[in-house]
Amino acid sequence: MNELIMIKYGELTTKKDNRKYFVKTLTANIEATLKDEKAQIIKNNVRMYIYCENADKIEEKLKKVFGIHSISKAYKVNNNIEDVLKKSLEIMDRNKKTFKVITSRADKTFKTPSMEYSSNLGALILKNSHFKVDVHNPDIILHVEIRTDGTYVYTSEIKGAGGYPVGVQGKGLLMLSGGIDSPVAGYLALKRGVSIECMYFESPPHTSFEAKNKVLSLAKILNEYSGKIKVHVVPFTKIQEEIYKKCPDTYMITIMRRMMYRIAEKYAKKINAHAIFNGESIGQVASQTLESMVCVNNVVSMPVIRPVACFDKLEIIALAEKIGAYETSILPYEDCCTIFVPKHPVIKPKLENCISYEQNLDYEKLIDEAIDNIEVITNFEKPKYEDLL
Ligand code: ATP
Ligand code: MG
Repeated sequence: MNELIMIKYGELTTKKDNRKYFVKTLTANIEATLKDEKAQIIKNNVRMYIYCENADKIEEKLKKVFGIHSISKAYKVNNNIEDVLKKSLEIMDRNKKTFKVITSRADKTFKTPSMEYSSNLGALILKNSHFKVDVHNPDIILHVEIRTDGTYVYTSEIKGAGGYPVGVQGKGLLMLSGGIDSPVAGYLALKRGVSIECMYFESPPHTSFEAKNKVLSLAKILNEYSGKIKVHVVPFTKIQEEIYKKCPDTYMITIMRRMMYRIAEKYAKKINAHAIFNGESIGQVASQTLESMVCVNNVVSMPVIRPVACFDKLEIIALAEKIGAYETSILPYEDCCTIFVPKHPVIKPKLENCISYEQNLDYEKLIDEAIDNIEVITNFEKPKYEDLL
């Protein structure tokens, strides 16, 4: 394996006490991402080196791993300046004109100070090539890192995904619908290091097979950032029909969402998740006013985190596009909320009304029954309709 990728860690370097755990989790996540590639990982507290055969392909995969600050194709040579010069001239793009050397010295026993080393190497490059120095706006930045085991040189530095390694902040349960908002909420949770499992409420025959497939496609996109996603599909038809029959039109959505939250919390505890995540955004629809949130949130004690609560729709769309979910999210399949949409949902629901209307429902029993019949999906290759017949 003669190619080398060097990784700088993201935010985790500031968390001194947790560093070991963070690096360990990041390593495990990278190993999982590269499980089909030939790669050897060597790590220390500040850098990770991946020896491999197909650096371009591996670089692409690493771009989706949270906890990485930057990714560079690097070259390792001996700690002697002639070898460093030779390798530098090899990797500096000949079509470019100007350069600047930045040296860092992790090996403090190395005698020459960094600034002096940069200027020595710069002078040698000037002498042996057409390149000119430009310290303010160079075409090429040549990074040189002098370590005890050798000198690493590189000229490219791609921005990593940032954030924390997935898993270091525990687990959350994401309410994943087929819309634009909840996949973005999931992406943001993953970026903060929360591993997620997803919950999707389906109401066949009111919701279609395509709607479920769409959710699985979105889960698959999120899985590229995690590798461990599961989708828990809750049969929700009976609960929705009961609400439809027994509760006033205007409160249907509020009560339906209270049922979703109850199920989510009960199940989250079962799978050891610490919080519920969803794609609610303040004021986007009637069920997402602050008054609605008060009524809905009231049925759970677990934290409910709404990563996109204060984002504009356009900001959410931009993120959806960035993660490659937007095209899927806008496919025109209904979800269970749109099927039973009342003409005039209450915008400022009252908690006492919710409680009173719910007395018409035997909801504890309905909730347990729904949870008992949850289908767990880990394979996101979409099933074909014929496969189910
Ligand atoms: P999205 O674009 O994410 O579908 P939305 O704007 O359509 O959101 P709502 O339908 O009110 O808004 O849902 C708000 C949040 O509730 C969603 O972002 C999602 O987290 C959750 N949710 C809604 N419907 C479902 C469902 N069928 N299964 C799982 N979660 C759901
Ligand atoms: Mg929706």
